[in-house]
Amino acid sequence: MTDWPTDKPSPLWRSLSRETFSAPALSGDADCDVLVVGGGISGLTTALELRKRGRSVLLLEAATVGAGASGRANGQVIAALTRHGPDAIRKALGEPFLQLLAGSADRLFGLAETYGIDCDARRNGWLQPAHSPGRAKRAAAMAAQWAAMGAPTRALDRAEMAARIGSDSYFGGWEHGGGGHINPFAFTVGLARAAAGEGVVIHERTPALSLTRQGDRWRVTTPAGAVRASRVALTTAAHTGDLWPGLRRTIVPVTSYQAATAPLGALAHWVLPGDEAFSDTRQDLRYLRKDRDGRIVSGSAMAIQLAAPTRLPRLISRKLGLIRPELGELPMEHFWGGRIAMTVDRVPHLHRTPDGLATWIGCNGRGLALACAMAQVLADAVCDVPDEKLALRPTPLKPVPFHPFVSRTARMILPWLRWQDGREI
Ligand SMILES: Cc1cc2nc3c(=O)[nH]c(=O)nc-3n(C[C@H](O)[C@H](O)[C@H](O)COP(=O)(O)OP(=O)(O)OC[C@H]3O[C@@H](n4cnc5c(N)ncnc54)[C@H](O)[C@@H]3O)c2cc1C
Repeated sequence: MTDWPTDKPSPLWRSLSRETFSAPALSGDADCDVLVVGGGISGLTTALELRKRGRSVLLLEAATVGAGASGRANGQVIAALTRHGPDAIRKALGEPFLQLLAGSADRLFGLAETYGIDCDARRNGWLQPAHSPGRAKRAAAMAAQWAAMGAPTRALDRAEMAARIGSDSYFGGWEHGGGGHINPFAFTVGLARAAAGEGVVIHERTPALSLTRQGDRWRVTTPAGAVRASRVALTTAAHTGDLWPGLRRTIVPVTSYQAATAPLGALAHWVLPGDEAFSDTRQDLRYLRKDRDGRIVSGSAMAIQLAAPTRLPRLISRKLGLIRPELGELPMEHFWGGRIAMTVDRVPHLHRTPDGLATWIGCNGRGLALACAMAQVLADAVCDVPDEKLALRPTPLKPVPFHPFVSRTARMILPWLRWQDGREI
C-alpha cells in the first residue's frame, strides 16, 4: 500500500520558511549501520541522535522532508500529553517517560538553538483555557502536578486568562511557561540541514517499498535501488504502510485541517497579546496561535470531509468567533490539512523486534516536542539498550479492533465529543 503525503495543498509554513533543503533520490545500492525511514521531525531527530552515537545513518523520505505532519502542524510546542496529567502518565508509562516528556520542549528549542534553525521560535508559553468550571478545577490540579515536578506551570483564574488570550469566554485554566510555537516546516527543514551537516545521508523522493531480512541484515528496496542496514528505525507516523506487517493497524490516522487569516496588522493584539500558543480543554479543540506576521493560524477536524476546502475555513471562522466575535469576521487566506496518528489509549507506543527494527507511534496530535524527546528512546531501541532501561517500555503490536471500519469512520465520533464537551465533568 502506498500512503505518502503530497505537497498539496501547501501549508502556509512553506511560503514563510527561510530554511531550505533538498536531497537527491537514491539511485543504486547503499549500506549503513542504521536506516531511518521517514523524513519528519521523528526521523530527523533520531538520525541526529544516532550520528552522535557514531553510527552511519541513511534516511529515506518518500516525498520531501516536512511533507508529512511535521510540516503541516499548527506549530504549538507542548510538553504534555492530550488527556493524561503527570500522575496518570507516571502510573501508565513510568517515571522515566514522564521525565522525558517534561524535558521535551527544552529539547526542541535546544535543537533549534544548537543548529541555528530559523523557525520563528517563540517561547512565550502555552495556555490551556478551561471551557467549564469543572475543567478549570482539573486544569489547576494539572498545573499543580507539573509544578510539583519543577515544571514552569501555574493555574490562571478567569480574569487572568481573559487578559492573556483576549477573550472572557473561559473559566480560567493553566499555563506552561516552557511551551511556545514554531514554524514547524522550517524547523523540520532546518533539522534536515543539520542532520546532513552531521553526516546523515538523506534521500528524498525515495519511498522504502519493502523490508526483508537477508542473513543478519535488513534489506530495503526503493524504486531505483536498495539499502542494506544492520538496524532500521521506522518513523512513518500516520503515513505508515505495510513495511512492518501489523503496525498500520495499531493506529487510526485522523485528518486535521488548518487555516490562516491575512496578517492582522494593528488588530493582532486582539488576541494573545503576549504571543503564546493556546489550545482549550475541549475534545473538539479550539486552538490558535499567531505567526510572525500576525496571521491567526487555527484548525479543526470535520465529521464529514466532503467539500472541506470550502466548508472548513467557514467552520474555523465560526469557532474563532466563539472565542471572540471580531475573529469570526476574518476571511481565511490559507488552508491545508495533515494526518495525525491516534492510538486507542491516547498514549505513544514503542515497538521493537529482537533483530533491530524499532518504531514509536501515536503522537495523538501533540508530537512536535514529543518527537524530539522520543529520538533518544528510539536511538536506544535500535542500539540494543535492553527493554527495562528504555524510557518508554516497548509493547507488542496491538491492532485496533475492526481497524478498516474504525479508520474510515473515526471522525464520525466528533458529534459525540462535542456533546461531551457541552456537559460538565
Ligand atoms: C494538522 C496538524 C496539526 C498539528 N498540530 C500540532 C501542534 O500544534 N503541536 C504538536 O505538538 N503536534 C501537532 N501535530 C502533530 C505533529 O505534527 C506530529 O506528531 C509530528 O509532526 C509527527 O512527526 P513524525 O516525524 O513522526 O511524522 P511525519 O512528519 O508525518 O513524518 C513521517 C514521514 O514518513 C514518510 N514516509 C511514510 N512512509 C514512507 C516510506 N515507506 N518510505 C519513506 N518515507 C515514508 C512520510 O512521507 C512523512 O514525511 C499536528 C499534526 C497535524 C497533522
